[in-house]
Amino acid sequence: MAQDLIRPWSDEYTDYLRDESRRVGTADFIAFPATEAEVIEVINEARARGVAITTQGARTGLVAGAVPYGGLVLNLSRMNKIGEIGNDDSGHSLTVQPGATLADIRKVVEAQGLFFPPDPTETSCSIGGMAAANASGALTFSYGSTRNWVQSLRMALSDGSMLSLARGESHASGRSFSLATEDGRVISGQLPSYTQPNVKSAAGYFVADDMDMLALFIGMEGTLGVVTEIELRLIPKPKAINGLTIFLPSEEAALKFVRFARGIASRPVAIEYFNHDALNLLRGMKSDNPAFVEIPVLKPHYHTAVYIEFHGDSDEALEEAVMQVMDAIMEIGGSDEDTWYAVNSRELEPLKAFRHATPEAVNLLIDERKRSNPDLTKLGTDMSVPDDSLEAAMDMYNAGLKENGLESVIFGHIGNNHVHVNILPRDMEEYERGKSLYLSWAKRVVEMGGSVSAEHGIGKLKAPFLKMMYNDEDIEQMRELKMLFDPDGRLNPGNLF
Ligand SMILES: Cc1cc2nc3c(=O)[nH]c(=O)nc-3n(C[C@H](O)[C@H](O)[C@H](O)COP(=O)(O)OP(=O)(O)OC[C@H]3O[C@@H](n4cnc5c(N)ncnc54)[C@H](O)[C@@H]3O)c2cc1C
Repeated sequence: MAQDLIRPWSDEYTDYLRDESRRVGTADFIAFPATEAEVIEVINEARARGVAITTQGARTGLVAGAVPYGGLVLNLSRMNKIGEIGNDDSGHSLTVQPGATLADIRKVVEAQGLFFPPDPTETSCSIGGMAAANASGALTFSYGSTRNWVQSLRMALSDGSMLSLARGESHASGRSFSLATEDGRVISGQLPSYTQPNVKSAAGYFVADDMDMLALFIGMEGTLGVVTEIELRLIPKPKAINGLTIFLPSEEAALKFVRFARGIASRPVAIEYFNHDALNLLRGMKSDNPAFVEIPVLKPHYHTAVYIEFHGDSDEALEEAVMQVMDAIMEIGGSDEDTWYAVNSRELEPLKAFRHATPEAVNLLIDERKRSNPDLTKLGTDMSVPDDSLEAAMDMYNAGLKENGLESVIFGHIGNNHVHVNILPRDMEEYERGKSLYLSWAKRVVEMGGSVSAEHGIGKLKAPFLKMMYNDEDIEQMRELKMLFDPDGRLNPGNLF
């Protein structure tokens, strides 16, 4: 009975009012369905009661997408079954419920010598959240985002009907599309007419001429339906993985190295960046907080770091690329002594801990500052620019931060010209100054042909930025598309629009 599934709100659910954006919402009911049938029951009951639904995975999102604006929280964490790995002519696949975490999926997949590449750093996230946000990460440089790795999905719509989509089965004709739900209802209409920038982007609905319609629903931020099942594409685990964390004497040297690394014939799978302030923040955390003990010692002269990873069939096959990297490092001012080199998963662990520790350290610092200033949050950018604008974007960030006297760290997926500038305000006056600076950057990034959100999505936090990237007509077309699938605007109100 749906009435039994839907619980009235009480204080024991307070955690479900927030996600990793640290934004706090409100709600009147909560449900924890364990099956697709229960999801449909809950949706139908919410419709009967006339309440909005906010879908939640693991609430690791950074843009308040899973933060409820009243109504019912549909939390899918109990819907976490992982099926058996299948193998047919098209390769290996795995069907999972949306609440399964990336960490649990990886365990199952890796035990069979297989690999699921999307890696949004925070492995406690759910696969439903990854699909809804089209999550990406360091390995996106070579393997692409979650969209590339979903073979099919099942989705409950706001009228309780089910839509099932498999790769290659339904294509748009130009920008027109027609899809049938399992109970035979036909949903047809037009995709928005805008062209997306030619950069890594998770801003607004993904649309293209003649597109595979499956792609629209990966990255829709829960605004079109509730994903109830996902089939993932798997590939054999690379036989050899080499990772190098390279410490260089300046930011200039690091950017020079990034340009070089992109051109290596054996293409790296990841190129990540950590500026001087990020290294200093980690140094501080390592000495003060036992949770950061796993991070290797950062010597005082380490200025800026670049992490680069290679995948291949054998260490020998990667040797040439690693040698090229070492030669380039020497020329640019680094040394083998100032390079951490890992050739297997165990040796890679501390390097990965280092990468994950940076956003964690930022969150801890802000939580500390929030004690005296509860309204304070970090201001975290997530913007990408075209290849030829990388240096201009970095100059713009550094100059703005210096002029405004703001504390910050810069880190992230520099291979995709996509870094996260995290402004760390000490008080509300700095917060306001940082916000204006962020808005001015976003305007400039759009002018450069970049995206206001490369991977975290728009959610509720970044809705004002969407309006910088798309004009009123584009946004109206997005809204019209949502109305075709969710005519009452019941799903995830506040996300995107
Ligand atoms: C330390 C840290 C590092 C991170 N690094 C990265 C990174 O490198 N790359 C990156 O892309 N992200 C990163 N993230 C953000 C986050 O982990 C990802 O966006 C992740 O995919 C969110 O998954 P989730 O299960 O937590 O989703 P939630 O936060 O619960 O939800 C995210 C969005 O998806 C919707 N949603 C969730 N499940 C479903 C479903 N089944 N059906 C429909 N809609 C649904 C929600 O309504 C919401 O809009 C990071 C987060 C943290 C805390």
